[in-house]
Amino acid sequence: MRVVSVHEDVLVATSAFWKTTCTIVRSGDEAFVIDSPVLPEELDVLPAVLEQSGFPFTGLLATHGDWDHLLGRLAFGSGAPLGVAETTSARLTGEPGSAARALRDFDDEHYVERAQPLAMGSVEALPVPGHLGLGDHELELHPADGHTADGMAVFVPWAHVLVCGDYLSPREIPMISEGGSRAAYLATLRRLEPLVARAATVVPGHGEPLDSVRALAILREDVAYLEALPEGKLPLARSTAAQQRIHAANAERVAA
Ligand SMILES: [Zn+2]
Repeated sequence: MRVVSVHEDVLVATSAFWKTTCTIVRSGDEAFVIDSPVLPEELDVLPAVLEQSGFPFTGLLATHGDWDHLLGRLAFGSGAPLGVAETTSARLTGEPGSAARALRDFDDEHYVERAQPLAMGSVEALPVPGHLGLGDHELELHPADGHTADGMAVFVPWAHVLVCGDYLSPREIPMISEGGSRAAYLATLRRLEPLVARAATVVPGHGEPLDSVRALAILREDVAYLEALPEGKLPLARSTAAQQRIHAANAERVAA
């Protein structure tokens, strides 16, 4: 796991698996942890990363309900408060146990062992669009669905950081998962564009933090890719075998 400081109040930890990002945001004597790394050793050291950097843990946020973004409770205990968009809360309630099952399948597939299973317990449903107080500041919450049926992007105005969830990845082409749609994905990209323009740093759900110029370039590539579906070519930097598989699934979903 790589940890970088992108602002005095914002750390970004990038998992060795899928480059899943975890963003830690501080204001005063409070800090939220947004999303999570994937591997057990990474989750184990996360509390120490906060402590050593002077980020006093307050609670967890998740950009959306895919299991690989929901593992914060394995690091900070099953009682840690977890805030999600209302859409994500509805999804988690509608598919109880599915994140824990998906994590178990992943662990079985990759021979990963964990000390305990994932228990989602209760989550706090946050109104989106909306604001969320953190210390002396407020985070902006913006709807971000289309990859899945749920989700939110978090803008940190005083640090000019946008944590956008599974959009604008330099590693992964747009993925239209179950519950997602091309129309909703494109609407989210249009909503994100002015936020990207305001941002100094954009943290995608998968991949390294980006500056605004690079994130805007990816946004334009992604709009072009989605509009061309089911035809079209993959962006050159994102054309690996794994991305070809995502593309085939996208094409099938758009044609259905
Ligand atoms: Zn993801």
